[in-house]
Amino acid sequence: MADDYQSRVGRWVEAHGGTWPPLANLARLAEEVGELARALNAEVGPKAPKPGEQAAGVAEEIGDVLFVLAVLAGQLGVDLQAAGEAALLKAERRDRHRF
Ligand SMILES: [Mg+2]
Repeated sequence: MADDYQSRVGRWVEAHGGTWPPLANLARLAEEVGELARALNAEVGPKAPKPGEQAAGVAEEIGDVLFVLAVLAGQLGVDLQAAGEAALLKAERRDRHRF
């Protein structure tokens, strides 16, 4: 088996007895995106963390989003690398004059 990130995440899932159903993982992804928003708002936005709150950093939350996304992609049979490449190709071709 390849040793790319998605494969490693898949092995971790297997070693831990599987994962939640896809819609539950989608909810987890939404939770992690919310945590990323909170971290970003604390770092570059107007909302300071609560007193005594030990907020995770933006990089950590991006990692959490990526991890849950890899879990979800794996259980749906989606190749994360190929999906990312396809999205990049779309940006390079279809959207090349949009931004
Ligand atoms: Mg998190």
